[in-house]
Amino acid sequence: MKLHDFRELERLPGAAHPSVYRVRYACACGDDHLGLLSHDELDWAPLGLRPSLFLNLMTDRLEPLQDEFGDLAARRIGAGEWPWSFFCYPEERPRPMFPSMFWLLAPGTADGSIGVAVRCPACLNVSINIVSPEHVDVPFHNDAAVGVVRHVFRDDALRSIERFEAELYSASFDARRLELH
Ligand SMILES: [Zn+2]
Ligand SMILES: [Zn+2]
Repeated sequence: MKLHDFRELERLPGAAHPSVYRVRYACACGDDHLGLLSHDELDWAPLGLRPSLFLNLMTDRLEPLQDEFGDLAARRIGAGEWPWSFFCYPEERPRPMFPSMFWLLAPGTADGSIGVAVRCPACLNVSINIVSPEHVDVPFHNDAAVGVVRHVFRDDALRSIERFEAELYSASFDARRLELH
């Protein structure tokens, strides 16, 4: 299973450390199934890192909780590269993100593309981006440009995957560059 097979992520109430997400994913058998993943498994395991970093929303930088940077991923993060990013439409700017910030995913209309609904960690609005599967699956692979739905979604506007897919197939998109800082 790859990240782009995820269809819906929901953070479960209650469990705090680590938080737990219920993930609906597209299985090879053709059906969707549910699974549980911890925050660590979602965000840090793909990077081969233990959770020793935090996302500073003031600077959009990942910053170490400890001083030791051991491996390549940590060095790239230390150099200001973002493992995952998306374009926040209400803010008109790229933002760093983590897999746990995905909300809804679905195959897009273009060949092999993936539509993702992401809740922005800074402004809390939801943006829909059209990206490549690699943009979702491969840490530090960021598409040079992504499709962005020209619409600001409120929290309750995309209640179901069906609504999301309807938006995905009917909406008009702009291309936005994901410039990395
Ligand atoms: Zn199955
Ligand atoms: Zn935002």
